Amino acid sequence: MGNLCHIYTDHKSLKYIFTQPELNMRQRRWLELIKDYNLEVHYHPGKANVVADALSRKQHVEPLLEEGFNLLHPVVLHNIVISCSLESQIIELQKSDPGIFHIKRKMQEQDTKHFRVDEKGVLWFDNRLVVPKDHDVHNKIIDEAHSSKLSIHLGSSKIYQDLKPRFWWTKMKKEIAAYVARCDTCCRVKAVHLKPAGLLQPLSVPGWKWEEISMDFIVGLPLTQKGHNSIWVIVDRLTKSAHFIPVHATYRPSDYAELYFSQIVRLHGVPRTIISIEVLSSLPAFGSTCIHSLVQNWFAIQPTILKPPDRLSV
Ligand SMILES: [Zn+2]
Repeated sequence: MGNLCHIYTDHKSLKYIFTQPELNMRQRRWLELIKDYNLEVHYHPGKANVVADALSRKQHVEPLLEEGFNLLHPVVLHNIVISCSLESQIIELQKSDPGIFHIKRKMQEQDTKHFRVDEKGVLWFDNRLVVPKDHDVHNKIIDEAHSSKLSIHLGSSKIYQDLKPRFWWTKMKKEIAAYVARCDTCCRVKAVHLKPAGLLQPLSVPGWKWEEISMDFIVGLPLTQKGHNSIWVIVDRLTKSAHFIPVHATYRPSDYAELYFSQIVRLHGVPRTIISIEVLSSLPAFGSTCIHSLVQNWFAIQPTILKPPDRLSV
C-alpha cells in the first residue's frame, strides 16, 4: 500500500477510467475497488505483447517440443503429409489376394463395365477401391466409420452411404449391418427416434355396466375339436366381468359381428364405445359390419336382447 502500481493493458479505454465522465455499472463497481490503490494505467497494444502471449500458451503443445520435434521448423513443415494407412494396406493386400486375381482374369476374358485397373495395378470398382475378402480389414474400415474418435456410432445405412463412395466389396451392406448390430455401445444406448408421447390421457370411468367395453385376443393356442385356436376376450370396463368366446384366427369381421350379436348384444345390449388394441386395424370393418348387421337383423334379434335396466332407479 502506498506504492505506485503500473498496470499495462491492451484495453485502451481503461487508460481513461479515472477521468471518464460517465461510467457503466460494471466500471463503477471496479472503480470502487481500485480507488483505494495508487494505480497508473498504461496502454500496451496486444500485438506488441509477444512475451505475455507466449506465457499464456496452453500446456498441451509442450510434449511435442520436448521430443525435439520442432513443428515450426520450415523443413519439417514442408514434409508433413497426412496419408491414409488403411488405403495403402488395402492396396498391398490386393497384390496377394486370390479374389482380386480372379476379377483381373475375368476382366481379361471379357470387358467389364465397372472394374478397372489403374497404372499402379490397383483394382477399382468405378471410383471405389476394391477391398480384398479379409474380415479384419473390413472390420477395420467399418470400425473407423462407426466407432473411432471422429465418429458417433452412426446407423448402418449412414455408414454404408459414407463408405460407399470410397470402398467396394461384396456383401458390404450386409456386413456393415451385422457389425452395427454387434456393437456393444449401440446395444446399450438406444436412441429414441419417436416424438414424445405427451401426457397420459386416461380413459373416463364408465357410467354404466356394459356401456364401454374393451376387447382383446389370446392367440396361438392349439386347435380344439371344434376348430378354434384363439380366444376372444370381451371385458366390461366398469364391472370387469368378461366373456371368453372361442374363435379361429382366420375369422372375418362379419363372423365376429355375428358372434358379437349372439353372445354380447343379446345379453348386454349395444355398447357406446369399444376399446381394442389387437383388432384396431380390423375394428372399422368390424364396426361397419356390426352396424349393417344391426340394421338388417334388428327385428330378428330384438326379442333376444335383454331390456336395459332403468338407470334412474338404481
Ligand atoms: Zn456403435
